[in-house]
Amino acid sequence: MKVYFVGAGPGDPELLTIKGKKAIEDSPCCIYTGSLVNKAILQYARQDARIFNSASMTLDDVIDVIKEASDLNENVARIHTGDPAIYGAIQEQMQLLDALGIQYEIIPGVSSFTAAAAALKQELTLPGISQTVIITRAQGRTPVPEKEDLKLLAQSQSTLCIFLSVQQIENVAKDLIVSYGEDCPAAVVYKASWEGEESIVFGALNNIADKVKEHDIKKTAMIIVGRVLLKAFERSKLYDSGFSHEYRKGATN
Ligand code: SAH
Repeated sequence: MKVYFVGAGPGDPELLTIKGKKAIEDSPCCIYTGSLVNKAILQYARQDARIFNSASMTLDDVIDVIKEASDLNENVARIHTGDPAIYGAIQEQMQLLDALGIQYEIIPGVSSFTAAAAALKQELTLPGISQTVIITRAQGRTPVPEKEDLKLLAQSQSTLCIFLSVQQIENVAKDLIVSYGEDCPAAVVYKASWEGEESIVFGALNNIADKVKEHDIKKTAMIIVGRVLLKAFERSKLYDSGFSHEYRKGATN
């Protein structure tokens, strides 16, 4: 018996990994994060699988369901949105499973920040602009450590992928303008990869909050900020004809 923490991906069921799909097929018990996971993924569960929506469960409830499955020697697929390592609240589950001596494995998924970049047809790391991506969030009920305050992170002017914060976009933009400037491009991607539901709002730090309000986007959205969005950059050295590397030795330097 094993618990599989499965990354369900950002929404499009085809963005589930083959390994994640197999884990769901092999698990008579599935617990999914109902607020965000596309239910279409449950089509891979066995007909007779017991399926739980964790949206209405506490951590103890989840562990109780896992314990029951463990007593029956049945696998559990614990299905999280995107990649479970990012705002997935999996550490606390794993800690309790360790204490119970229950085996588990993590199957990574496509995170919503890369799905949002794909929707924007955007590389997040452009030479000469930014070689760093910061994954962060504004403070909500979960506190953010002071030293990770957005205003501080902004000083690096890296590409920012801001989760869980679209409701606070006004404050987010205000905090970022100080370092990025008010004309710095910003994009908000709602429901990246969800067929027929995905939408993109593109603007600059001085107007993105108004645009988001106009589009009435209140959740399930990724904020991406940075000058990479201007797409004015130096070409990658990797494919430069004057740049040789291990796999293209013929090239000259
Ligand atoms: N583990 C997830 C993140 C969970 S936190 C991941 O790797 O993507 C939930 C937040 O993720 C949401 O508030 C939103 O900011 C973002 N999110 C999740 N799915 C999304 C999607 N399809 N499009 C845009 N943002 C999404």
